[in-house]
Amino acid sequence: MVLEKMKSGLRKIVEKIQGASKIDKEKVEEILRDLQRTLLEADVDVDLVFELSETIRKRAIKEKPKPGLTMKEHVIHAIYDELVKILGEEKKIEIKPGRILLIGLFGSGKTTTVAKLARFYQKRGFKVAIVGCDTFRPAAAEQIEQLAKNINAPYYINKEEKDAAKVAQEGLEKFHDYDVLIFDSSGRDALDEELANELKRLEKVIKPDEVLLVVPADIGQVAGEQASEFNKLVGITGIIVTKLDATAKGGGALTSAKVAGAPVKFITVGEKVDDLEIYDPRRFVSRLIGFGDLESLLEKVKEASKPEIAEKFIKEEFDLNDFVEQIKSVQKVGTMDKILDMLGLSLPLAKKVSPEMLSVQEEKMKKWPHILNSMTPEERANPEIINASRIRRIARGSGTSEADVRELLASYKKVKKMMKLIKPGRMKSMRHLAKLFSGFR
Ligand code: GDP
Ligand code: MG
Repeated sequence: MVLEKMKSGLRKIVEKIQGASKIDKEKVEEILRDLQRTLLEADVDVDLVFELSETIRKRAIKEKPKPGLTMKEHVIHAIYDELVKILGEEKKIEIKPGRILLIGLFGSGKTTTVAKLARFYQKRGFKVAIVGCDTFRPAAAEQIEQLAKNINAPYYINKEEKDAAKVAQEGLEKFHDYDVLIFDSSGRDALDEELANELKRLEKVIKPDEVLLVVPADIGQVAGEQASEFNKLVGITGIIVTKLDATAKGGGALTSAKVAGAPVKFITVGEKVDDLEIYDPRRFVSRLIGFGDLESLLEKVKEASKPEIAEKFIKEEFDLNDFVEQIKSVQKVGTMDKILDMLGLSLPLAKKVSPEMLSVQEEKMKKWPHILNSMTPEERANPEIINASRIRRIARGSGTSEADVRELLASYKKVKKMMKLIKPGRMKSMRHLAKLFSGFR
């Protein structure tokens, strides 16, 4: 699987850099060889890999590290920067009302992605409906029906109608007062004349704001050619790369997509309805390398929790109430190891913390809301005033141990401290953060 393989390759490189006694020319060459191998294995185009290593070589050897950065950090940063460049430029995806048409070949993941995307917009408060315009494959309408019911999204299908454009028209009429309309379409084995005509007619009727081409990551670099072909035909506004969890070729799919001139806007990383993410090269590379993907974590947390708390979390103003709320919503997002991975901490942690220890941590955290309930409002707002006798009282009141209470307080302090250390883009702080969390027991 691309993410895992690339991740372990890149993290080994970062480890190698961090563990080196000195970064000299020889070391840089060694690192570049490792990097080339990792990228080629992920199916990134050979020329691109050589270009990238040339640039990194120049930067690593000729450029002086920015003030405050060590040579090691400088090299890691150069790698990060250049990887981001080949994986796509930074752009903000606009999440706004409109009509979205998904197109692509057979089995690329269109229909399942329709549901994922619908869910994505639902979660952001939009009124979303689905229109199933795949009139070609017999079971397509039922698939839409099932997926839409799963996420409670209104949908329109017409099992009697063979003309996709007609179904689109009917769907448009039925859902004229919706914010976001997502249209599924049929595929073929290749972009043949029949599919081309069908898509052109669909486009004419729907007048979509977004035409997103769905390509599976396992086709690798072919994704670029495919995107160009579809782009010439209907003018795509973006690409969704699916099945990134299931192939080693994702690097090829993601980097080649750039060629087509349409950005990768979303990726899917699993079969579940929540396995869709906005594609942000910066975040993607951070996560692979393990710099810590705080942004992504915060976004997910935002989704799962009340917005005002996520805000506080960022602003470091949060008290114990917010802290426990935050932990609860983080638990909704995933297990501890997932959270730590997003923070980029799995590297130092992997050596120290076993999965058993992580689940013990999860168990402990389940007690936290009870502990909090036994505190007075004043204690929750000013945890500093909680002394030994208060700890004893709180433990008794919540049916926990004094150690449990102390641990909650210690974790709160650590996270608060950690938030202060994180200034966006500062790798140094990430190191501190890693140290902090490796003591998170
Ligand atoms: P369509 O023919 O383009 O509509 O493709 P479908 O949406 O029916 O998907 C084809 C298959 O790919 C289904 O079995 C999906 O569950 C699977 N699939 C789609 N996206 C992903 C993904 O991100 N990861 C994995 N592992 N499977 C996926
Ligand atoms: Mg389909």
